[in-house]
Amino acid sequence: MAAKIALEFSKLSFRFRQYAFDIEQKVIEKPKSRFVDLMIDEILKIHQPKLQLPQVRVSRRMRSTLGSYMPSRKQIAISSRLLAMGDDEDVREVVLHEVAHAIVHARFGNKPRAHGREFKAVCKELDIEPKRYVDVSTEKWQMRIRYAARCNFCNLLIVRKRRMPFARCICGSKIYPKSWQAISETERRQDFDWVMI
Ligand SMILES: [Zn+2]
Ligand SMILES: [Zn+2]
Repeated sequence: MAAKIALEFSKLSFRFRQYAFDIEQKVIEKPKSRFVDLMIDEILKIHQPKLQLPQVRVSRRMRSTLGSYMPSRKQIAISSRLLAMGDDEDVREVVLHEVAHAIVHARFGNKPRAHGREFKAVCKELDIEPKRYVDVSTEKWQMRIRYAARCNFCNLLIVRKRRMPFARCICGSKIYPKSWQAISETERRQDFDWVMI
């Protein structure tokens, strides 16, 4: 019963205050990258059918960088913030840029310069801007970041707008979180949910 009440409370306080509330004993996962893998498969099928890439790695450490390609592992990584808070077009541009690096590597090995002639040619094939960086405005993301900590007495998640030295849970306990996990609502899923970023 307590959990139910807590959820009702959280919905209400979310709607009206949007800065401090507690949510159920939820597991907060990484944002889902399945649709990115599907998108990459579709692109490779057309442009580089023999190339197979491992699943995209979602990185919570990447802050200023939104995507990367590691040739030794053929690994594309994208920022969890991009995945959780970027719009589809942002994600698409970053992913295609990294796919272009992967295709250049598959065709020419390590010889070409990172954003040289070969890269530009592949970008043209993929119909993306042959730029060194993908412009994604990330300022608006900051407003959507929240911080979560678990109450060590009742196990509820406590969500705040800032990392606070302590927080009061609705169970009445005062907790002093050692660390707050950055989270965000995801818009990419039908059901309202929170993800780690
Ligand atoms: Zn690049
Ligand atoms: Zn509690």
